[in-house]
Amino acid sequence: MSAVLLDGTKIASEIRAELAGEVQGLTAAGLRPGLAVVLVGHNPASEVYVRGKVKSCEELGIYSEKLTPPVESTTEELCRIVESLNRRDEIDGILVQLPLPDHVDAKKVLLTVDPAKDVDGFHPVNVGYLSTQRPGLVPCTPAGVMEILRRSGIAVAGRDAVVVGRSDIVGKPAAMLLLNANATVTVCHSKTHDLPGVCRRADILVAAIGRAGMITKDFVKPGAAVLDVGINRVTDRAEFERLFAGNKKREETFAAKGSTLVGDVHPEVAEIAGAFTPVPGGVGPLTIAMLMSNTVKAARMRRAARQPVAV
Ligand code: NAP
Repeated sequence: MSAVLLDGTKIASEIRAELAGEVQGLTAAGLRPGLAVVLVGHNPASEVYVRGKVKSCEELGIYSEKLTPPVESTTEELCRIVESLNRRDEIDGILVQLPLPDHVDAKKVLLTVDPAKDVDGFHPVNVGYLSTQRPGLVPCTPAGVMEILRRSGIAVAGRDAVVVGRSDIVGKPAAMLLLNANATVTVCHSKTHDLPGVCRRADILVAAIGRAGMITKDFVKPGAAVLDVGINRVTDRAEFERLFAGNKKREETFAAKGSTLVGDVHPEVAEIAGAFTPVPGGVGPLTIAMLMSNTVKAARMRRAARQPVAV
């Protein structure tokens, strides 16, 4: 059986094209969506992510602002920055780039974000809205998983879904979204007994673990849809061989860069799955697209609700 490749790059660009039209309409009505990103210190990975987010805003016509407080900023100083963004009407989304420095109480800073501007969907108010099926802002990566399923015509209602991972940012919201879409949902974690057996019951298997290629063929029911959230960098030769032996293209990347990216799903799963997301190019591209979507949604819910516009 050869699995259908779920092309996240293509789906993300479809979403961006739709959003660009919406942003145009909102801007014409005087409601240009705006996103503020708070980047504390100089974490190189965070700088790359933030650059991607700002660039995506520019491409879509969303106003963006990057605030770069120094690494020694205190929790109170960061809370005050967030509070000042909460007060600004033209800012619809506030994103505090994680991780924050160790001396900062990250939970306190995130709790300060106005839930109506919480485009990461991490605030307990939005978590509550999700679990009670009220309109709110949903975490971007799990929202991206649902968009891939929806836009690929993969039915969810009535099917068995297994989510491996129970983090607040991926596993739990993914499980809640699948439940809200009427799947029968099982959530697995590091204490789950017979993980392969539980996963083999899944029609839809979501892997959000953070372990390179852990989900092998033994975990997958033939024909299942497998959505791989994991992003892991492989630098070890033996690990590379376990995952990509015989893959010429990957061999070239690994030789040139000394590393390659792999998800939580072993590439051999493509031989048995009905559909799967590749890494890179699967769930990853959806995350920024859904951040843009949340920013537009936040503008609509907060500002357009006060001043209805036909867009
Ligand atoms: P996390 O907070 O570390 O959570 C990992 C989860 O996996 C935990 O619930 C943990 O169980 C479970 N787990 C770990 N080892 C396990 C094992 N051997 N068997 C079963 N379950 C196990 O990670 P996360 O933030 O959710 O991220 C997960 C992955 O997604 C990472 O690779 C991350 O880089 C990636 N990610 C990608 C995107 C994207 O844009 N595509 C966004 C966010 C995250 P316990 O709860 O029992 O410890």
